Amino acid sequence: MKTARTVATNPRLTSLEASFFTTRARRTQRSDANGDVRTRQEPNLSSFRSGSVCSVVSVVKNMRKTAISDALFARAQNLFPGGVNSPVRAFKAVGGTPVFLTRGQGARVWDADGNSYLDFLGSWGPLILGHADPDVVAAIEAAAGKGTSFGASTEREVLLGEAIRAAVPSMERMRFVSSGTEATMSALRVARGYTGRHRFIKVEGGYHGHADTLLAAAGSGVATLGMPSCAGVTPGAAADTIIVPFNDEAAMQAAFEASQIAAVIIEPIPGNMGLVPPRPGYLPALRQMCDAYDALLIFDEVISGFRVGRGGAQALFGVRPDLTCLGKVVGGGLPLGVFGGKAEFMSAVAPEGPVYQAGTLSGNPLAMAAGLAVLRKLDQAAYRRLDALGQRLETGIKNALAASGVAAQLHRVGSAFTLFFCAEPVTDFVSAKRADTERFARFFHEMLDRGIYLPPAQLETGFISLAHTEEDIDTFVASSREALATIG
Ligand code: PMP
Repeated sequence: MKTARTVATNPRLTSLEASFFTTRARRTQRSDANGDVRTRQEPNLSSFRSGSVCSVVSVVKNMRKTAISDALFARAQNLFPGGVNSPVRAFKAVGGTPVFLTRGQGARVWDADGNSYLDFLGSWGPLILGHADPDVVAAIEAAAGKGTSFGASTEREVLLGEAIRAAVPSMERMRFVSSGTEATMSALRVARGYTGRHRFIKVEGGYHGHADTLLAAAGSGVATLGMPSCAGVTPGAAADTIIVPFNDEAAMQAAFEASQIAAVIIEPIPGNMGLVPPRPGYLPALRQMCDAYDALLIFDEVISGFRVGRGGAQALFGVRPDLTCLGKVVGGGLPLGVFGGKAEFMSAVAPEGPVYQAGTLSGNPLAMAAGLAVLRKLDQAAYRRLDALGQRLETGIKNALAASGVAAQLHRVGSAFTLFFCAEPVTDFVSAKRADTERFARFFHEMLDRGIYLPPAQLETGFISLAHTEEDIDTFVASSREALATIG
């Protein structure tokens, strides 16, 4: 595992100071009164390569103001472990002070110091329409005015459930929860309860939230922080978790042969070791193995659900799982998770069956309203547009990489992407971890200083939203071109 960078070794401050002088000559426009990083549509030959699909966009590297974020972070560290309420937000992998955001609108966010950024994090995936989409905000406001929680059934639950089933037919029946973690934890309980077996298989570098049984060899923050295991998880809780490498059918087959398996839980397009698409045939092979051994196939589509298409990864690859977990996009930026699948399996859930699962805020009216508002806007045209924006980014970044000579791999599925800083192909967790995290950290800060907000760790996924414009993508590409040239 790579060790996390410390603030002390972060080259950002010196490079930022140095670049202030080197970029002054070509700086054509400074920040506005709020310190916003601005771009403009004037030729800047140093950041434009002929033959690129991108329009001519110049990039301004700004002296970001950080005094208020620094002060807030100091107070936050007093309150919250690492100063944050979810580990990767702490910038441990990239160094520096995390930005404290105050506002988001469309594709842009603003921090407490008044800097603004084009957002390619999208709250880690949910914001497929961008920030504060007027229809989503109106739906939440309307719902809130009629009561924020009832702890009782509502029509909106039925409407959202029907909308989800229409888009993801394998989810014949489902239950709403409040987070992705609850969804995966509950789906696994259903699989175990239904089959009467304890053991399950997950892939190395797959992240399914922070339930005890699912933390072994996990991706996302667990990988970023280089934690081989998680303190507080008892050996008993982890004993039934079998880990196999992603994209490795033989290892999966061997795991099935070695013990009685209740389920395979897998992100069909892993997004927590960076974005790593499955090899052709891998997901169908998992389906066959689960059928052969009477185990349930659980697709954790918390990231890929409603992101890579209306039907998620299961529609994209034509593989029907037994259970599916959703989160992020389906909640429209509010706390929502869903697990569901074949009626036969879901009938095991209480009060119909013996698998207990419950939640005070489950089916929360605000989350239902937000989810419905988002799903209404995600038609085929929306996904075509997201893919076109993604393609524009991919082409631009690949050109920029070729021009810079930096060895890196751009992975993209639709509007989700990761730029791995390594020369060799990335196909699983081991190869993903070969990426140069120091180099990523420098790239991250060069981008941040140019007003581009990326996930603050190499083994994560960036997201494009429908609020991004072609020009925003070109700004991303032009910024990357400069950042790549700087980090060499
Ligand atoms: N599954 C996957 C694939 C995820 O990416 C995540 C969160 N990033 C989760 C589950 C857990 O979701 P939550 O953070 O909402 O608990």
